[in-house]
Amino acid sequence: MIEKLVTSSLKLGVIAGGQLGKMLIQEASRWDISSYVLDPDEGCSARNVANVYVKGDFRDFDDVYAFGKQVDILTYELEDINIEALQQLKADGIKVLPDPDTLALIQDKGLQKEFYTKHQMPTSPFKCYENVEEIEKAIASGALTYPFVQKLRKGGYDGHGVSLIKDANDTLLDGASMVEDKVDIAKEIAVIAARNAKGEVRCFPAVEMSFSEETNLVEEIFCPANLTLKQAEVAELLAHEIIENLDMVGLLAVEFFIDTKGQILINEVAPRPHNSGHHTIDAAVTSQLKQLLRAILNLPLGSTALTTSSVMLNLLGEAGHVGPVHYEGFVECMAIDGVKIHLYGKKMTRPSRKMGHVTILGNSVEEARSKAEEVKKLLKVKSCQM
Ligand code: ADP
Repeated sequence: MIEKLVTSSLKLGVIAGGQLGKMLIQEASRWDISSYVLDPDEGCSARNVANVYVKGDFRDFDDVYAFGKQVDILTYELEDINIEALQQLKADGIKVLPDPDTLALIQDKGLQKEFYTKHQMPTSPFKCYENVEEIEKAIASGALTYPFVQKLRKGGYDGHGVSLIKDANDTLLDGASMVEDKVDIAKEIAVIAARNAKGEVRCFPAVEMSFSEETNLVEEIFCPANLTLKQAEVAELLAHEIIENLDMVGLLAVEFFIDTKGQILINEVAPRPHNSGHHTIDAAVTSQLKQLLRAILNLPLGSTALTTSSVMLNLLGEAGHVGPVHYEGFVECMAIDGVKIHLYGKKMTRPSRKMGHVTILGNSVEEARSKAEEVKKLLKVKSCQM
């Protein structure tokens, strides 16, 4: 693999071509790795940076299999992929990393929770149900009490497929679900861990997330998180333990809740680059993307030290704006020191669509957050066709 790397003939396949795929390919290009990307959308973010674009559906066996056959090493930037195709590619000798069996476990929120319980790791109490009728029966018998959080076992993202059920007036989601206790959340934090085939593990310092009440999407992520030393240590230790217990090679984003009693609970993991690691491009010695490449190529992992404090803002499409995108306030923001704007290259905006992100650097989180307030006022994702 390394020989191919230095001879520049290594072919890296990336499923799919969203912003995370684009960022990964940009990093791979700095090592002169040839990149292939699979995505159904011809206008996808990664298309213009990849050496080869392949149009195809990542949920379709034939599309994924034919794509994987063209590359030496295959990784992914989302979870919703045809697992059977990845398993067949692995059986054929293609390096699929992280391993398809790990992805299969993570794709299913029920199996994920069972994994934490099996390894005696802290997570909120839960139970799995096949359908709405089973949940209703459990409520009627008193086995399940309000409030609770219902999560579809498969296919959820960005809060879709997750529902807080407060009482009988709330509608249950239709489908096989994992139902867990509602946590009294004080903070949400995330730690990204990386592991290579030699078993070396490194974790980035924890970030803290704040969510928009309107859209339930992450609005602002700051780093370092405002934690006690002990909490930061425990979160990193848990991320380290999870990636090791999964025997995983690659990058793992671990999301945690800290409840009002200060207890750290594992919420969920993602085996890929993550929104909560965007800041590492501008504010850490090694970016999460470079770290993923190091991990899957079995190279020594890079330093995860922060170079500065930061705030990351998702640039979301403004409400009421649909059509060709226009970034209002771009020039004004460039005049503020330490503002790093990343645009994903999506041509069309719509309300709440992730169009880019901004990392704002500061000598302290407080300084970065105050600059972020200015950026929020200035920078708006609008449509130029109003
Ligand atoms: P997704 O995979 O869509 O990101 P999450 O499991 O992270 O779904 O849930 C989305 C959000 O819902 C969380 O960030 C948190 O704010 C809230 N949430 C999820 N689980 C719980 C819970 N058990 N108790 C309270 N709030 C929760």
